[in-house]
Amino acid sequence: MAIWPACSGRVLLPPVNRATHYRSHSCGELRAAQAGLEVTLAGWVRRVRKMGVLVFVDLADREGLTQVVFDETVHRELWEAAQELGREFVVQIEGQVRLREAPNPSLPTGEVEVLARSLRIFNASEVPPFKIEDATDGGEELLMRYRYLDLRRPTNQKRLMLRHAVATAVRHYLNAQGFLEIETPFLIKSTPEGARDFVVPSRLHPGHFYALPQSPQTFKQLLMVSGLDRYYQIVRCFRDEDLRADRQPEFTQIDCEMSFVNREDILQMFEGLVRHVFREIKGQDPGPLERITYEQAMRLYGSDKPDLRFGMAIVELKTKDGPDAFAEAGFQVADKAEYIGALCVGGGASFTRRQLDELTDFVKRPQIGASGLMWCRWNPDGSTASSVDKFYDDHRRRQWLERAGGRPGDILLILAGPEAKTRKQLGELRLELARRLNLCAPDTFRCLWVTDFPLLEWDEESARWVAMHHPFTAPLPEDLSLLEKHPGQVRANAYDMVINGTEVGGGSIRIHEAGLQQTLFRLLGFSDAEAWNRFGFLMQAFRFGAPPHGGIAFGFDRLVALLAGTESIRDVIAFPKNNAGRDVMIDAPDRIEEAQWKELHIRPNFPEHHEIP
Ligand code: ASP
Repeated sequence: MAIWPACSGRVLLPPVNRATHYRSHSCGELRAAQAGLEVTLAGWVRRVRKMGVLVFVDLADREGLTQVVFDETVHRELWEAAQELGREFVVQIEGQVRLREAPNPSLPTGEVEVLARSLRIFNASEVPPFKIEDATDGGEELLMRYRYLDLRRPTNQKRLMLRHAVATAVRHYLNAQGFLEIETPFLIKSTPEGARDFVVPSRLHPGHFYALPQSPQTFKQLLMVSGLDRYYQIVRCFRDEDLRADRQPEFTQIDCEMSFVNREDILQMFEGLVRHVFREIKGQDPGPLERITYEQAMRLYGSDKPDLRFGMAIVELKTKDGPDAFAEAGFQVADKAEYIGALCVGGGASFTRRQLDELTDFVKRPQIGASGLMWCRWNPDGSTASSVDKFYDDHRRRQWLERAGGRPGDILLILAGPEAKTRKQLGELRLELARRLNLCAPDTFRCLWVTDFPLLEWDEESARWVAMHHPFTAPLPEDLSLLEKHPGQVRANAYDMVINGTEVGGGSIRIHEAGLQQTLFRLLGFSDAEAWNRFGFLMQAFRFGAPPHGGIAFGFDRLVALLAGTESIRDVIAFPKNNAGRDVMIDAPDRIEEAQWKELHIRPNFPEHHEIP
C-alpha cells in the first residue's frame, strides 16, 4: 500500500539490500519466487495468533510485514517459546520461506510465510499504550506522548518516507539547476517576517540575546551580494506566533535565492520545481501554472489563496463604481451597502430551509462576521423566488440570476456590506459550500501563482504601514513613482504559489539598492538609526555591489502534507509540538535551574510556582 504509487521503487527510494549481520531480508521483501529459501528476519512482533498446533506471528519493520509460523509438530520447544511472545517484542527468526495455504492479496508479502526454526528475543516490550496499527485506539494526547511508538505505525512511517522522497526530489532538481546548498546560522539577530522572535540569552555577553531565524532572508540576500548566484537550503525556521490551528513554532522551508533574475525567471524556475516534485511523487504533472493577480483573486474568489479545484467565482451585483443590479428598492441593507456579491450554486435550488439556515449561521459566525445571508432561487419550473421578495420582483431576480450565469435549478447566495470585507466573507462561504457539496475530488491538484500583491498594508492598531511580505520586497518598477505619495497603491514585485487553496510558497524580487531600501524602512516607520541598528549590515552590503536578485521560500511541511493527503502538518513532522506549542513527550518548554538563570545573567519575573496550563 504505497501512498505515492508513482515514486515507489524509483530513484527517490530505491530498493536496497537490507542484509546485515542480523537479517538476510527486510520484513517487506519476500515473495513467492523465494519459496524454499532459508532466511533470517528481524523486527517487531505486531500480532500473535495461536491456532492449535500453530502460532502465527506478524513480524514487522519499516518495509512491511511477514507472517512467521511456529509449528508444534515441527519444533515443539520453539512453538512453546512463541506462545510467550508479546506485542512489540523485538526478535530475530530464522526459517524457510514457503507458499501460504491461504494467500493474503492485500499484503505485498501475502503469498508467503516463514516456517521458523529458531527464535531469538532481543528485547521484550511492555504492553504498548495503544495499538500500533493504522487504525489505532490511541487518543491524540497519548499518541503524542509516545510519539516514538506512534511513528511505528505504517501510515506514519510512510509519511516520513514520503517527506524524505520530497526532499530528495527537491534537491535533485535544484542541484541540476546549479543551486548550492548553503547553511546559514541559527543564532542571529532578529529578522522581520512579521512574527515574534524566539530569543536565546547569551552567557558570554550579559544582557545580550541572539534571535532564532524566522527565515534566512537576510543571509540569503547577503549570499547573493557574495556572488554565490544560486542558493537553497531546506531549513528550520522559528516563529513565536500566537497559536493558530496547525502552526508549529518551528517548521521547515525550502528557502531559495537567485541573482540576475526578474520575476519571470523565478516563476519559471520554481514552477519547474513544483512540476518536478509532482511528477516524481505523484506521477502527475500539474501542467503550466495558472497566474492570477491579487486583485483578481480577491474580486473573483474573496481570497489571496483561491482554491481553483472548483469554480463558483463571485458575481458582483453592486460595486462602488460599477453595476448596481439592486437599485434603490427601499431595502436598507442593499440600499446602503457599498458592495453586493453572490455565489451561484449549481443545483442549489433544492437546498432545504434547514440547509439555508445552516449556511446563514455559518456566515454569521463571529469569525466570518456577516449580518445575514440573502438567497435567490431559480426553480426548475422556471419561476423565481428569493428571501427578499418583498422588495424585488421577478424581473429583478431574473436579472441577478442571468448576470450570474445561472440556470433553472440554481440558487444565488448573496452577501452585502463593505467591499473588502464582503468579498472575504463570500470567499469563506465559497469554501464552505465546496466542503458541504464535496466539490473537490481527492488527489486533484490545482497549482497557481498569485502576483502583484500590495506592497504595504495599513495597520490600524499601530497606525502605520507594514510590509505585506517583508521589507526587502521590491515594488513593481511601474509603481515606483507612487511610493512617496500613494504608498497604499504600490504593488509589490512578489508572488505566492498556491495549491488547492493553501499558500505553499512565497517570495519576491528584492530591493538591491541601499537608497530604496532606506526609503522603505522610513515608510515602515523605522527611524534611520533604528533601521541602521537592525539592518545596517544589509544596507552596508548593498553599497558593495549588490546584484539584482530575488527568491522564494516554500513551506516544506505544508507541501509534504498536501502530497500525503493529510490536513495537518503535524502528521508529516517526526516530532511536532501540540496545539499549545508544547512537546508533551519530552515535556518542553520546561523550567530551568536557578543556576542556569544566574549563568545567563537573567532573573525570572514570574511567581516561583507558576504553573504551566
Ligand atoms: N523569507 C520569506 C518567507 O519566509 C520568503 C522569501 O521572500 O523568500 O516567507
